[in-house]
Amino acid sequence: MAPAAMTFASSLSDAQPVPFWLEDPGKPAALPALTGDEKTDLLVVGGGYSGLWTALLAKERDPRRDVVLIEGREVGWAASGRNGGFCAASLTHGLANGLARWPGDMARLEELGARNLDAIEDAVARHGIDCDFERTGEIDVATEPHQLEELREMHEEAGRLGFGGLELMDRDAVRAEVDSPTFLGGLWDRKGVAMLNPARLAWGLKRACLGLGVRIYENTRALDLSPAGAGMAVRTSYGRVYARRVALGTNVFPSLVKRIRPYTVPVYDYALMTEPLSPGQRDAIGWRNRQGLGDSANQFHYFRITADDRILWGGYDAIYPYGGKVTAELDHRPETYLKLAGQFFECFPQLEGLRFTHAWGGAIDTCSRFSAFFGTAHGGKVAYAAGYTGLGVGATRFGADVMLDLLAGERTERTELEMVRKKPLPFPPEPVAWAGIGITKWSLARADARGGRRNLWLRTMDRLGLGFDS
Ligand SMILES: Cc1cc2nc3c(=O)[nH]c(=O)nc-3n(C[C@H](O)[C@H](O)[C@H](O)COP(=O)(O)OP(=O)(O)OC[C@H]3O[C@@H](n4cnc5c(N)ncnc54)[C@H](O)[C@@H]3O)c2cc1C
Repeated sequence: MAPAAMTFASSLSDAQPVPFWLEDPGKPAALPALTGDEKTDLLVVGGGYSGLWTALLAKERDPRRDVVLIEGREVGWAASGRNGGFCAASLTHGLANGLARWPGDMARLEELGARNLDAIEDAVARHGIDCDFERTGEIDVATEPHQLEELREMHEEAGRLGFGGLELMDRDAVRAEVDSPTFLGGLWDRKGVAMLNPARLAWGLKRACLGLGVRIYENTRALDLSPAGAGMAVRTSYGRVYARRVALGTNVFPSLVKRIRPYTVPVYDYALMTEPLSPGQRDAIGWRNRQGLGDSANQFHYFRITADDRILWGGYDAIYPYGGKVTAELDHRPETYLKLAGQFFECFPQLEGLRFTHAWGGAIDTCSRFSAFFGTAHGGKVAYAAGYTGLGVGATRFGADVMLDLLAGERTERTELEMVRKKPLPFPPEPVAWAGIGITKWSLARADARGGRRNLWLRTMDRLGLGFDS
């Protein structure tokens, strides 16, 4: 190992291979599993944000509705408890992606996204959810000259279309906020992103659901789904749930509606957490306004500061396992941790000597258009939402509303959206998916190294509206 790599390795020597957020003394005990049969108006499958918001909003829409939620392991153990905690208003995986796909609906999508984020902030306050919610915004930073031009174009385009609130920053302005010698400029979305503690949001939603009378069973996996009388029956290990309607918030895990499985692939994303910074280390980087940050490369990093002044540093590698497996072994990848540690100290050389306390990964439900898709099955008795592609902390609440609209058979401002009415292109079967994703990843890395220039493969994929991201 080269000396520099050895230094990075030693910064990782005490890092626990567990998500920082889930190692919290405030973690609630798991609720008992379902044993026997249950009958309900609405069964929600999945105890991540998708399922929890669906259960909560269902009760808020109609307090008399009986709601049961089942979770295969523990509430919040998966993506919802191990993400970066960037809670964005965007429903479209960013403005550029939305404008490229749904230009006609974009004004409405932005408005609905802003309302959705406001509603999350309101619910956090109303239900007393202690999740360090801070509406600090996010700065996209340029670390290569061509990215400055991209940020400038995005700023202009957003202004032209009336999507204000973005602030273009030169090198000195960004470095006055957060100091890294690698930053060349930035674009600060002051209102459109909040930072939060992701696991505590999930646990807080669980508590809020229980408070409204939702019955939650943990360690209760849904094994299959079949029609039963006027409703549906869901089989679990020790019992069945008979439900008039079923909402699936199962994210990257194999859907109970088999035909939608090809629409997502798991992409593993990894993150490191540092020890708390000393006051001297804080002074060396600034970061007084506590924004989330992301760099603007195809292979990007996201980073933020926690309530106790640690830095979370994640992203860059996006690992697709052949065959789309979701397994516990893939939650850890020491070679990625080493790479991330090296890149961290390139970004913040002033923090040399800082140590990482936690290192983990998780599967992201990637779809080919980077933003969620929705639909129904079994004659409208079952609804699903999936494919959030790394930007689901905020958007899952919107997806929950869409599922409830669909189950009610209602036409709403949400169900009229093209994004809701139309599905993305599915991924092809293996080995074509593996080969296609491999060429795309190689091309994206090459574009980053070549001033952003996209090769013929990426340009063709762009024209087809197909993409790969984490
Ligand atoms: C490392 C990482 C970083 C991320 N960072 C961000 C970020 O900063 N900002 C952002 O917006 N997004 C981020 N994301 C994405 C975000 O976390 C997800 O989009 C979001 O949590 C999805 O919520 P969910 O409820 O749909 O899925 P999950 O949280 O995965 O929940 C699905 C649940 O369904 C359960 N389940 C599945 N099948 C069954 C079954 N058959 N029976 C019973 N239960 C079942 C699972 O056990 C699981 O608990 C990140 C994701 C990862 C992995």
